[in-house]
Amino acid sequence: MRMYDIITRKRNGGALSKHEIEYFIQGYVKGEIPDYQVSALLMAIYFQGMTDEETAVLTMCMANSGETVDLSSIPGIKVDKHSTGGVGDKTTLIISPIVASLGVRVAKMSGRGLGHTGGTVDKMEAIPGMRTSLDREEFFNIVRKVGVSVIGQSGNLVPADKKLYALRDVTGTVESIPLIASSIMSKKIAAGSDCILLDVKTGSGAFMKTVEDSLKLAQAMVAIGEHVGRKTIALITNMDRPLGMAIGNSLEIAEVCQTLKGSGPADLTEICIELAANMLYLANKGEIDVCKGMAQQAIDDGSAFCKLKEMVAAQGGDISVLDDAANFAQASVCHEVLAQKEGYLYAMNTEQCGICSVELGVGREKKEDCIDFSAGILLRKRIGDYVKVDEPIATFYSCAQSKCIEAEKLFEQAVIISSQKPKAVPIIHARVTKDGIERCE
Ligand code: URA
Repeated sequence: MRMYDIITRKRNGGALSKHEIEYFIQGYVKGEIPDYQVSALLMAIYFQGMTDEETAVLTMCMANSGETVDLSSIPGIKVDKHSTGGVGDKTTLIISPIVASLGVRVAKMSGRGLGHTGGTVDKMEAIPGMRTSLDREEFFNIVRKVGVSVIGQSGNLVPADKKLYALRDVTGTVESIPLIASSIMSKKIAAGSDCILLDVKTGSGAFMKTVEDSLKLAQAMVAIGEHVGRKTIALITNMDRPLGMAIGNSLEIAEVCQTLKGSGPADLTEICIELAANMLYLANKGEIDVCKGMAQQAIDDGSAFCKLKEMVAAQGGDISVLDDAANFAQASVCHEVLAQKEGYLYAMNTEQCGICSVELGVGREKKEDCIDFSAGILLRKRIGDYVKVDEPIATFYSCAQSKCIEAEKLFEQAVIISSQKPKAVPIIHARVTKDGIERCE
């Protein structure tokens, strides 16, 4: 077999066989096929696409390119969740304890933030003492005993994706539905859960800017999951505005606790109830409305918050910060951002809000950068609120006033205040299952 023939077949719009896909993935991981040939193939896939069958084969070849996690020694149905990334997205730390408190086990490997989006592992590490790098045995034991553990990606999981993603990043081939779908699903499949819930973000802070593109990606991922025997559902959710009021690691942990105690922001609570209900549904806990009621009950009776504390304690974290956010180390500078004009808060460029939070110290610009756990943004107003001149619209937290001044310039560009009231948009746009699309608008 020759890589040249594989490239030209795809370039000419043909479908690749299982053998050809295996040949290129295995050869690339072993270092036998050079980057320039794989780049050419990726570009051909970008333009010509892939059939469902090819995408499923590519996903499984990638999933099997390194270690895989076998969760079968942990009793019960294990449900995983993946978000395509957003700003202020702390849902994993809310829904995992909700479903675990209802008997569904969650053994989750999460990522760190990069660019304008945050990552669950960084948020967890804002809790003093919290360990996010556990060996397999300890990870499994916590899932058995507590019902939930969330850690960073460990081991040699899906090396094909590590290489391919880095190459796509520098060859203009990231925005391809079969390539994104196989990248995400190979990692979920290798992580071993029986069922997968996907939160596909859409809007200005998301990877997919339109609902229609998000639906195509969701359908491709659901098809792959179901094809390989993992029950998979995707929700298309709004990322045209930051989720909740807090952006930044310890600020977001405080908002997680507030939400699990029943007094979180309405948008965050709504999305978490929907996501948790779908995880419960995947684990055969009942029809979706029944599952929503169960998720709400776990918040109302305090069992979900107790479950978060159990998980944090099991992973060495200081639970006093969960009871009282004042126990977190506080930022040395607190800066109010005031409205420059009167009117409705009409829109927020969410990607730009994320970049502004990175400027304050929340995230990394480069992989090796340190992050400031106490830095961040607390929004004081939501889209649709009416603001007067000089009313606070956000509070910035950082270690230096100069960072706040720079961030404020970015924030002002991100926020539009208008005399026109914005149209209300749903937080959940659609639900995609193996049976099709249910639109929520
Ligand atoms: N996230 C991934 O893991 N892979 C992609 O290709 C895009 C987003």
